[in-house]
Amino acid sequence: MADKPKINLNRIKMPKQEPEIRAHNFDEVATGYTLEMAKEEAGRCIQCKKRNCVAGCPVNVNIPEFVMALRDGDMWGAVDQLKANNALPGICGRVCPQESQCEFVCTLGKKGAPIAIGRLERFVADWECDQSDKPKPQIAPSTGKKVAIVGSGPAGLTTAADLAKLGHQITLFEALHVAGGVLMYGIPEFRLPKGIVQGEVDYVKTLGVDVRLNSVIGKIDTIDELLADSYDAIFLGTGAGLPMFLGLPGENLNGIYSANEYLTRTNLMKAYLFPEYDTPIKKSRRVVVIGGGNVAMDSARCAMRLGAEEVYIVYRRSREELPARAEEVENAEEEGIIFKLLTNPKRFIGDENGWVTQMECLEMELGEPDDSGRRRPIVKEGSEFLIDVDTVVVALGTTPNPLIPSTTPGLDTTRKGTVVAEEETGKTVKDKVWAGGDLVTGAATVISAMGAGKRAAAAIDAYLKG
Ligand code: FAD
Ligand code: SF4
Repeated sequence: MADKPKINLNRIKMPKQEPEIRAHNFDEVATGYTLEMAKEEAGRCIQCKKRNCVAGCPVNVNIPEFVMALRDGDMWGAVDQLKANNALPGICGRVCPQESQCEFVCTLGKKGAPIAIGRLERFVADWECDQSDKPKPQIAPSTGKKVAIVGSGPAGLTTAADLAKLGHQITLFEALHVAGGVLMYGIPEFRLPKGIVQGEVDYVKTLGVDVRLNSVIGKIDTIDELLADSYDAIFLGTGAGLPMFLGLPGENLNGIYSANEYLTRTNLMKAYLFPEYDTPIKKSRRVVVIGGGNVAMDSARCAMRLGAEEVYIVYRRSREELPARAEEVENAEEEGIIFKLLTNPKRFIGDENGWVTQMECLEMELGEPDDSGRRRPIVKEGSEFLIDVDTVVVALGTTPNPLIPSTTPGLDTTRKGTVVAEEETGKTVKDKVWAGGDLVTGAATVISAMGAGKRAAAAIDAYLKG
């Protein structure tokens, strides 16, 4: 009997810009697989019967099917399988935490490296983007029902795409001058090129979605006014864009930014291209970013690319507890970001002109696990020390902007300002109103926002069809 072909337990390496080069430009860090690399990686998939990967994906992408089509060179087949459940694959392939979702449960992971599902997803999405003869998406006949979607982040875009395909007439209202939410104003170009996001926004528009920019709902119209204006249902996907601060002495000194402002200036307003674009940002020498999530990594890596000599991440727990994606922590380390772990700020010190010059910190140690299951950081008494800084970025998390809840009677909110909605359907307690994404969960992930959008779209469709 012929021997079974051996499975390669190592994944195909992703080509990347060298750290010393990429730390000084905003071009994408990972340059992407070639067709040969993608087919070889796809060829590692053993096409398990149990399909753990599909169950591990919050939107249940047909992973084995799209991987097999790619392996066989059937590119349009791969696109169809991928897009059947995911309207934004170029984005998910780049920023989803695959290592804790589909790839985490991939059977191959038991013996070696799991299939690089995210990288293959990205490859197929980029391949489709480059084709000039894209087939028209299939759209059901018009139902005559009108739905308003508020917010154009991944939750809003997914809900809009799914409902438009089902034949409903969709208007998508976005407060900013571009659509895409955090994908445009938060996540930097070097991780998620803005052309890719706009390509996927354009795809949603080809489904017939009417995208209205510069439209702050709660100001131009309230939710009740939209309902009175003949919309049959409304989906709220306005995210969690309100930054949290530490509440420490000196925090309002000049040179201290919220990560939101720092990243919006840099990414959305293109401060890194100043004066070609007219939004400035402080020229920094020593930058401290406070926090350990993706937002903190993005802020630190932007600061490095904007020309800072030293950039620190200050985080109160240890490396093991860093909530950022492992890949992005490694990228940040390679680029020269200095991690000051088990460290917490105590106060900020400024000069006579009100600019921050130093940050007093405390050393921490880890105690027993807290409610989150992570070990609680405890202050080491008398461990105060100073760090010289000229810029501080506070990346501690965000909560929803209160505009919609405060202008919408009948909407239920939590103590944290999130909107209460059923997990399975996104239905709020207000008649005809659904919600999902960060607005409901608090700051989370792109794919969880998309999953919420998909569930809400199905529930809205069922409601509209009686
Ligand atoms: P958002 O993306 O926040 O979109 C909400 C939209 O609603 C915005 O465009 C906003 O302008 C608009 N809006 C708000 N109020 C109104 C109003 N009144 N009227 C009209 N429009 C309104 N997740 C990952 O999975 N992987 C990552 O690597 C990752 N990195 C991140 C890095 C950064 C810097 C940040 C900030 C977040 C990151 N996230 C990441 C989290 C992820 O981006 C969010 O969880 C996701 O974008 C939430 O989607 P959403 O649609 O709920 O909201
Ligand atoms: Fe392929 Fe891994 Fe999914 Fe199995 S779990 S089908 S090997 S991607």
